[in-house]
Amino acid sequence: RSRAETRHWQGPARLASGEEVELLANVQDGPGAQKAAEAYAQGVGLFRTELCFLDSTKEPTCAEQAEKYSRVFAAFPDQKVVTRTLDAGSDKPISWATLEEEANPALGVRGLRTTGIDEDLFTRQLDAIAQASRGHQGKNWVMVPMVSTLSEAKWVAKLIRERGLTAGIMVEVPAAAIMIDQFLAEVDFVSIGTNDLSQYVMAADRMNANLATYTDPWQPAVLTLISRVAATGVRLQKPVGVCGEAAADPILACVLIGMGVTSLSMATSAIPSVGSQLGQVTKEQCERAAQEILTAQDSGDARNIARRALGIN
Ligand code: PEP
Ligand code: MG
Repeated sequence: RSRAETRHWQGPARLASGEEVELLANVQDGPGAQKAAEAYAQGVGLFRTELCFLDSTKEPTCAEQAEKYSRVFAAFPDQKVVTRTLDAGSDKPISWATLEEEANPALGVRGLRTTGIDEDLFTRQLDAIAQASRGHQGKNWVMVPMVSTLSEAKWVAKLIRERGLTAGIMVEVPAAAIMIDQFLAEVDFVSIGTNDLSQYVMAADRMNANLATYTDPWQPAVLTLISRVAATGVRLQKPVGVCGEAAADPILACVLIGMGVTSLSMATSAIPSVGSQLGQVTKEQCERAAQEILTAQDSGDARNIARRALGIN
């Protein structure tokens, strides 16, 4: 029955109690964005710009970058596009923006930290994003990965806003989640990257299949931090999205909405199953699941608590 409901699901996503839920897509290029638009995505919640350039041997010019980015904007002419600045390094090495030899690349020079090698790389990319977003009628949001300190948050927000764009950061480093009050005060929005947040909270390499039980967003420590970030967003009335794999898990998606998360961004293929599951639960059930899950002892316990609170067998 669940498969049939997923097959016939049509957006926009709505809870059984009527509230609309913003479902966005994770994309990496124009054709992918086009497919997302056809699959009821209401916009792009994570445009992974580094994946546009995996094959380039040198930094693309501003015009070359803008050309790639504008294809994604064109797929969602009136809707929100959240463009993430380069997250080069670690699991996404890019020859022109990654250090060759690092003992621990996941803890190394990646994301915003590449500005330590070449500061202008970041500003050149912001110029290209600003150029591509001209003429785009929807919301132009830009977020930065691997922000770990308040001074980084202040600095990137200034540079993004100077270009007329809305400024955000990803919450992936536990430091940002722990001090979320102060970080949220500096930016217009945050998006929780649960893939990296789980990796860093649980001290387990997300690329190591032997450690998959640790890098699980259902781990109570990860859920506790997500809940805290979402609650702070509600209190400060700033958007808190989730764009990691957690958002693509239909049951966890309900819990995230109950915590106060304002948008869910996922692979296009996950949109119907998440949308369909959201349509079967009420806001009250989501909020109950979000509360009760904080008592879980382990990830299995958390899953069981959520299913029970949501009335899912
Ligand atoms: C994440 O870390 O959850 C995320 C969405 O970013 P990426 O998977 O690209 O590191
Ligand atoms: Mg990440």
